[in-house]
Amino acid sequence: MDWDQLFREAIQYLQEYIRIETVNPPGNELKGARFLKKIFDAESIPCQLFEPFQGRGNLLATLKGSGEKKPILLLNHIDVVPVEKERWEVDPFAGIIKNGYLYGRGALDCKSTGIIEMMTLLILKRKKISLKRDILFLASADEETGGRWGVQWAMENIPSLRESEYALNEGGYIILNENGVSDRYEISNGQKVILQLKLKAKGTSGHGSMPHPDNPNVKLVHALEVITKWETPFNILPTVKEYFFKMAPKQPPYEKRFFEDIEKGLNDPSFSVRLTSNPIYNAMVRNTISLTMLQGGSKANVIPSESSATLDCRLIPGSLKEDFLKEIRRRLGAEIEVEVCAESKSLPPSSLDTDFFQAIKKYAAENDPNCPVVPLLLPGATDSRFLREKGIITYDFCPFRLTEKERLRVHGNNERIALKNLMFGMRMLVDILKEIAT
Ligand SMILES: [Zn+2]
Repeated sequence: MDWDQLFREAIQYLQEYIRIETVNPPGNELKGARFLKKIFDAESIPCQLFEPFQGRGNLLATLKGSGEKKPILLLNHIDVVPVEKERWEVDPFAGIIKNGYLYGRGALDCKSTGIIEMMTLLILKRKKISLKRDILFLASADEETGGRWGVQWAMENIPSLRESEYALNEGGYIILNENGVSDRYEISNGQKVILQLKLKAKGTSGHGSMPHPDNPNVKLVHALEVITKWETPFNILPTVKEYFFKMAPKQPPYEKRFFEDIEKGLNDPSFSVRLTSNPIYNAMVRNTISLTMLQGGSKANVIPSESSATLDCRLIPGSLKEDFLKEIRRRLGAEIEVEVCAESKSLPPSSLDTDFFQAIKKYAAENDPNCPVVPLLLPGATDSRFLREKGIITYDFCPFRLTEKERLRVHGNNERIALKNLMFGMRMLVDILKEIAT
């Protein structure tokens, strides 16, 4: 295998792909899908382009296996988030290479993943590796604004996708410590449940010079104070317990035992304060509530008759929405109306007892001994929810090695990927697929 040649190819494809502007909105993913299609066509890998809405494109490529096992789906998205162009060191749509990094919107999220997944299909095809399962590649539209024209549409309208046993989607990474050594493999196998609420307070309008008790702003503020101070109970899923258990050896001696059994650990008041001061840890162990929008009044001397607020709540999968809502209503009091404005289904995390997860662990053990592979309950939402809904075991993991700081460039200015990650990613993904598909 001429890895150097493949590496050069991957770099060039990623540069070209980044130059295709697919900022969502409006997306224009069709242009990106056509670019990928040309490459698959040239390699004689069957692929199909779907345009569910004008300009929005999804591309499905299929590398055939014997059918002995069910397919595995490699998922990535074509759209990217907008840029603050003037804040970038380089043109975010020029595919510029500087000091060993390729810069551009999508360099991490998630055009690099798309290129690596595509290269993996190309490599397996060129090497005539005989496969026991089909390998599906789906480059989707609309991930950044909810997936309606992307994965959600595709799962409803492309039946072959629903046959998949496994899917690999963007999400976790191999996290490097400050010395550039692998610290952990973070693989997300589940995510929190979305429950967004609109709160409304009503009252009597009047002149600001004459305060009265029926002011909706005052009622809303008092109710919000109560709700934002609510410390929701801990609810630890087995996968979260495993996460902390595996992270225990990395903790200072006095914290280790708390991490080893996080349920017990959280009974210790000072430890629970320390742990939950980390926003990601906090989100993993309980239902959370964020006050994200406030509207009330439009003039300095007018008491309005109505004001409203939005709460972005994220629930631990499996918790009962009705019970949570009942508790929210009770705490807000009878004067506040509560309406659900968006919600996602409660889906249990994907099993870790699979040959796919085993293959990742094997890779880690061989290449990064003593580096734990940890399952992550994602606080946010990804397209994986549409796959898990159909019963597909889905892991969110990009085969790249990043420091925490590098990871924060996702959606940020000067997004970039270390070129060596493209080489690493191809080799890792080919290894893992050989393990589970041959
Ligand atoms: Zn993404």
